[in-house]
Amino acid sequence: MTRSGPGDSYAGYRANLVESVRRKGVEDLAVLRAIGEVPRHLFVPPALLRSAYEDTSLPIGSGQTISQPSTHARAIAALRLTGHEKVLEVGTGSGYQTALLALCAMTVFSVERVPELATAARSALAKAGIGNVSVLVGDGTLGWRAYEPYDAILVSAGSPDVPAPLIAQLAPDGRLVIPIGNRQAQTLTLVTIAADGAVVRRPVADATFVPLKGTHGFHA
Ligand code: SAH
Repeated sequence: MTRSGPGDSYAGYRANLVESVRRKGVEDLAVLRAIGEVPRHLFVPPALLRSAYEDTSLPIGSGQTISQPSTHARAIAALRLTGHEKVLEVGTGSGYQTALLALCAMTVFSVERVPELATAARSALAKAGIGNVSVLVGDGTLGWRAYEPYDAILVSAGSPDVPAPLIAQLAPDGRLVIPIGNRQAQTLTLVTIAADGAVVRRPVADATFVPLKGTHGFHA
């Protein structure tokens, strides 16, 4: 992991980013520490380097976007990670959120449908020195059966509903966070399974994500 230090010219920018995310109401210390440590400049296209530490979403190619850091922070905080979890992420994108998750949990399995994005994310994660992640190219609405069950699942694309395979791959006391809505606007939603097996949904925040495309997402 690239640590802040005298040779790291972005450390001051990261400290400012942590402050602005904190001001937006995120209190989870592990998440704030991760934002202070992950070199976001490695995950954005070179032309956008100047904006790497602003709390804004940015285009990452293939028609996709890296979300606002405060949005990642809210979503990860809702998972209430303690550092011991096996996490499934759907929609690797740039790999930045994967990196944040990797610092807050034990292992991260991440699925991305666009091969070029998966390749770039793997290389940025390696450059950042993050090893406890695996990236698979595929349809994440099907989950990743090989490593189920997951203590936490984070979907970073907007979905019409919770894909059934993700519920099936969630550990009994697991937490799933997913933006649910239409293609234009969604509600970031915390999904848990009650003792009687009922699926419980609680709204976390309003959100605007790119569409989750696949078997259990939007079609075409
Ligand atoms: N967390 C990412 C956000 C990327 S945007 C980041 O920090 O950069 C959402 C991503 O979900 C896109 O990369 C898109 O290609 C991907 N995606 C959409 N549908 C998917 C699916 N069914 N399976 C896996 N990835 C999907």
